[in-house]
Parts: sequence; structure tokens; C-alpha cells
Amino acid sequence: MIPAAVGYHRATSLEDALEALAEPDAKALAGGQSLIPVLKLRIARPSLLVDLGGLELRSIERDGDELRIGALATWKDLTSSLELDSSGLAGLADCASSIGDLQVRNRGTIGGSLAHADPASDMPAMLLALGARVETRSPDGERSLSVSELLVGPFTTALGERELITAVVLPVPPPGSGSGYASVEHPASGFPLAGAGALGRPDGTKAVAITGVGARPQLVPESGSLDDVEVYGDRFAPESYRRHLAGVVAARALEIAQVRSEGRR
Ligand SMILES: Cc1cc2nc3c(=O)[nH]c(=O)nc-3n(C[C@H](O)[C@H](O)[C@H](O)COP(=O)(O)OP(=O)(O)OC[C@H]3O[C@@H](n4cnc5c(N)ncnc54)[C@H](O)[C@@H]3O)c2cc1C
Repeated sequence: MIPAAVGYHRATSLEDALEALAEPDAKALAGGQSLIPVLKLRIARPSLLVDLGGLELRSIERDGDELRIGALATWKDLTSSLELDSSGLAGLADCASSIGDLQVRNRGTIGGSLAHADPASDMPAMLLALGARVETRSPDGERSLSVSELLVGPFTTALGERELITAVVLPVPPPGSGSGYASVEHPASGFPLAGAGALGRPDGTKAVAITGVGARPQLVPESGSLDDVEVYGDRFAPESYRRHLAGVVAARALEIAQVRSEGRR
């Protein structure tokens, strides 16, 4: 379908973007990989698209004990970043490389994915396992939210009307840590039926989170038991099968993280 007519404004600064978003029914546009399909289906009919593409929010930089990923960093930027391997954060690149196809990875951004809050999106599980926070900016100022605080339900976030994600910030895990991501994808959409991100630290502690199985990404309890994890079923993957897949991908992600932590690859 052809989208309804919509205005377009290419933001020149964050302030300019926030000002333009004051127009009723204006919407931010990042990579357009989720928003444009929604416009084509006329599920959303914004009055104005505020293109964030020109803003300098794309860098991936280590800043002391933290890694800062600009909201406009694309999946391709993450797969080609040299910062990740050396920081024990290679799982971010695993996860980004499992998303969509080359075109989607060239355009889609980490900030856009988080703001869209598709419960089947890959990256939130990896970010949850790594203890990431999301920085935002609105006319009221700046905020920092955990991934769980941000993602409140399917396609629903805690973002205000004119609040933009500016960066994702992760604590760099201790030296000798490893991270990994594994998923089983729906063969038609490529989105995960179940995906898991894992972090293994040299002291043997670990964190695992899963996506694609419930209303939002969930941390797996330290016991590793998935009994209390919320899992839904549908025609394609009944609840029992999806729960089984969650266990499989969690084990695979943890294995990758532990192998990396032990320096075996
Ligand atoms: C064919 C195809 C396959 C895909 N496969 C996968 C997959 O396997 N796994 C997966 O996880 N995803 C997948 N995606 C989704 C993809 O990752 C999208 O890129 C992502 O969900 C949205 O990012 P975007 O930059 O394109 O955002 P856009 O489409 O531009 O925007 C999405 C929403 O976020 C808002 N927004 C954008 N940036 C910001 C910001 N900085 N602050 C606040 N709000 C903002 C917009 O207003 C809009 O509501 C796929 C998409 C396509 C088209």
C-alpha cells in the first residue's frame, strides 16, 4: 500500500528535533525499517516525520568502564565495531548480525528498535543480560532508564510524547568475561521464536535474558529455571514448544559466553 501524505523535516540538532516533534501527531524517523511498513499499512498516520538521520548519535565508543552506543548506530555499525570483542561484548555483534537481512542491518538502528518495542525483537535480551541503560532527552531534560523500565509491554515503552532515546550505555564487564547471543528464528519473518543473550564473568557468575517468548524481554533467574518465565503460545509455536526453545537458546548463548570467557575463541 502507499502511505498517506505526510510532512517531512530533517532535524539539524537534537533541540531542533524536539521542537519539530511539538507538532501534533509528529513522529521521529530513524532507520524507517519498522515505521515505514507501519505507514504503508496506514496503521500510523503521522502529520510529520522528523528525520533523526542527520544527528551525530551514531558512534560506538568506550568511555572508561562503559560502552556508549549512539541511538542511531545501525546493526551494521555494531557488527563492524572493533570495540566489542576487546570489551567482552561480542554478544552485541552476534545479536546484531542475526537481525533481518543486509538492507535491514544497514538502516535499522538500536534506538529505533528499542522505541518500537516489538516483543519479538532480538536486541533487548542481549541488552538486559548486559545490564544496559538507555539515555533519553525530552523538553523536560535527560533521563536514564534500565531496559526493563523502558520496555513496559508489546509495542509500549515508558517514553514520553516528545522523548527521544539518545544512547544505550553498558557497563564493560570485568576482563575475562564473555557474552553471546543465540536464537531460533521464525522461518518466514526471521524474528526470533526464542532468543537469548548471555554474559559469563570470570568469577563464574552469569546473566541470561530471553526474548520472543513473552510480552517483553525477561531475565532468567540465576537458578536457570524457566518455570516462572512468562511464555505465550500461538499457532506456529505452542507454549510448551516455545518454553522448550527458550531453554535451548539460553543454554546455547551461555555456552558461547562461557567459551569466550575462557578464551577458547
Ligand atoms: C524485513 C525486516 C526484517 C526484520 N527482522 C528483524 C529481526 O530479525 N529482529 C529484530 O529485532 N528486528 C527486525 N526488524 C526490525 C528492525 O530491527 C528495525 O530496524 C527496528 O525495529 C527499528 O529501527 P529503525 O531505526 O528502523 O526505526 P524506525 O522504523 O525509524 O522507527 C521505529 C519507531 O521508533 C521511533 N524512534 C526511532 N528512533 C527513535 C529514537 N531515537 N528515540 C525515540 N523514538 C524513536 C519511531 O518514531 C518509530 O515509532 C526487521 C525489519 C524488517 C523490515
